[in-house]
Amino acid sequence: MRKTVHHPDQQTKVCSNCRTEKEASRFHCNRRTADGLSSWCKQCNRLANQRYRNDERNQLKLSVKKLLRKLVHGRKRSREKRLQDLRYLARLVNEAIERVQEQN
Ligand SMILES: [Zn+2]
Repeated sequence: MRKTVHHPDQQTKVCSNCRTEKEASRFHCNRRTADGLSSWCKQCNRLANQRYRNDERNQLKLSVKKLLRKLVHGRKRSREKRLQDLRYLARLVNEAIERVQEQN
């Protein structure tokens, strides 16, 4: 039975996003992959992250997530503070709904 030999000192790897062969040092480590390197190169990862952060919808998702976490875990916060957070959350959701309606 033939087994594919894995070289931990792999020198290059082809990025599955930009399809460019790059040095192993151009990839982040990722223990979940077979070769221990992330399938996207650092550059592609960075660009994807930037795009994600610049996306308005994702911005909204992130702030809602943050608020929800505060509401769920911040039990010691006062009722006023929690109400404030809830009102802000409601405003974000309302704005998002309006934006979707405008698009139609
Ligand atoms: Zn790439």
